Amino acid sequence: MSNAQVLMNRNKVFAETFDGADLPLLPKFRTVIVTCGDARVDPAKILDLELGDSVVMRNNGGRVTQQIINEIGALSLLVAKVDGGTPGPFELILIQHTHCGAERFADPNLQAMIKAKTGIDVSEQAITNQEENLQEDIEKLRSAPVIPDYVVASAHLYDIKTGLAKEIVPPTRLGG
Ligand SMILES: [Zn+2]
Repeated sequence: MSNAQVLMNRNKVFAETFDGADLPLLPKFRTVIVTCGDARVDPAKILDLELGDSVVMRNNGGRVTQQIINEIGALSLLVAKVDGGTPGPFELILIQHTHCGAERFADPNLQAMIKAKTGIDVSEQAITNQEENLQEDIEKLRSAPVIPDYVVASAHLYDIKTGLAKEIVPPTRLGG
């Protein structure tokens, strides 16, 4: 049996007791979580999320890339529209983690090899210093013109050895 079949069988079990048909479009917490795609850092588990609690965006490293900025920019306009023109509160929680595979993207040799083979520049996703990278990423959000200044953003470092996340940047309105 393929992994897809194994997991789709789990979905069938899930659907047997499913009761989320009437969940609203906007998440209960009016929050976007941005984190790494690492299988050990699943927000549904580490933050005990329920269906409908939060939007989750994941990429290599959980870094704030231009792609993530574009996604959040588009999403914030959608939220404002659903809110009826006057945007309500909107929070962004950035979570990166210890022992992240994206630390390897900091290796100039690996960066050059990936660039040569695929044309992809992974330098934007490299983890070089976890606490500094989180602070830089909050500044990236703050200076991105497409992200509204009413968004409240915070940054956290999750320790895969303890299961505990540490606050690096407290929740702050991007517009100051
Ligand atoms: Zn990672």
